[in-house]
Amino acid sequence: MRKAASVGLSLSEETLTECALYNIAVAHQGTDIVVDLATKAAEAKHGADWEWWLVRGKKGLGFRVQAKRLFANGRYSSLTKPGPNPYLQLDKLVSASAGAGFEPLYCFFNFLHSHGQFNGPNLCKHSYRAPSFWGCSLAFPDQVKKVNSTKLSQLRSIMYPWHMLVCESAKLDLIGAATRFVTTRGQRDHAIGPRELPFHVRRADRAWRSATYCGRSPLLGRCLLGYRRHTRRQYCGLGRVPGFA
Ligand SMILES: [Zn+2]
Repeated sequence: MRKAASVGLSLSEETLTECALYNIAVAHQGTDIVVDLATKAAEAKHGADWEWWLVRGKKGLGFRVQAKRLFANGRYSSLTKPGPNPYLQLDKLVSASAGAGFEPLYCFFNFLHSHGQFNGPNLCKHSYRAPSFWGCSLAFPDQVKKVNSTKLSQLRSIMYPWHMLVCESAKLDLIGAATRFVTTRGQRDHAIGPRELPFHVRRADRAWRSATYCGRSPLLGRCLLGYRRHTRRQYCGLGRVPGFA
């Protein structure tokens, strides 16, 4: 993002989202994660840019994620909108997610900025280092709203590097790790449990398998991705993908 700005380009949230998900897909081809990018119409309805499905057998834990990019002024300027309810989109994400059985999340796209401390030790045991693992960070909508600010300086304390979503997968499996992330970092008593995969995810999974079988790349358009080999390094590899551009 910083490099783009230096040549006079401002990358949109959509472009950053597609780049990040595409890079994850390329780095981790397999079967345990499905990403479904939302259409504009779908985003307007449920407030999410994409769905993340962590799959175990025929069941999965679904996340709906809304992405916001950092701007040069040190704010996530599109986090709130003018009008009587600046958090209309956030409220929609939360209520539509709850109604459909998803965990809602925010994803922030970051770059080094004087208003934010992108440092500190890695909170997990993996070998990732600051500042690069802050490139994409996750936060919980209720905590985002409570901060009541679009400023990086205010929001930084409620963010987590996104690899932490699945950090403990070697110990707990993918869904167990994400559930632990929701309950501990989201300060919740329980997370929405895994459920039957909806049709579009089963279809996406099938498309992936057949495309893999045929040797074609299914990665443009829908991003389907996952892991077959359950190593810590691979799961935590989510954190390496976008970095600071
Ligand atoms: Zn980790």
